Amino acid sequence: MSLATLKRANHWLSSPQEQIKILSDHQKIGIPSFEQKLNESGVHSLRPTGIDVFQVNVGKMCNQVCKHCHVDAGPDRKEIMTRQTMQQIIDALEGMPVKTVDLTGGAPEMNPDFRWFVEQLSERNIEIIVRCNLTIILANPKYHDLPEFFRRHKVNVVS
Ligand code: SF4
Repeated sequence: MSLATLKRANHWLSSPQEQIKILSDHQKIGIPSFEQKLNESGVHSLRPTGIDVFQVNVGKMCNQVCKHCHVDAGPDRKEIMTRQTMQQIIDALEGMPVKTVDLTGGAPEMNPDFRWFVEQLSERNIEIIVRCNLTIILANPKYHDLPEFFRRHKVNVVS
């Protein structure tokens, strides 16, 4: 059975407006707000101290369609980051004390510029994390060498 993403199935939950509405109505469905949870935990204000990890979502394309997927990724999602945007990120990182870039998606490996991006980051001695679903490695022969590619660029694979 092939599954479609919520967007492709035209499901009402794929609408950002509906998602915002549900999150705004958290009290009606008995879920405490983020602020309430902070207060309960004795944390009354959160202040940023810096950026250790810079996470980049390179697109919604994925070889899988998981019911729990919080970005509604899947093979029918074509929204992906361009190389131009990746270059802008690399340029922005030049002036930032970021040591680690964390790549996610969808399946980030399906972005046609994924390897180029990893190579650029690796050349700059930036630590790289890739959120890999592992099944992508066997999904198509063109991904079979991913473990070797990851090893070569010292990528930390989170699966
Ligand atoms: S593998 Fe990950 S990104 Fe892909 S559909 Fe499943 S949860 Fe979403």
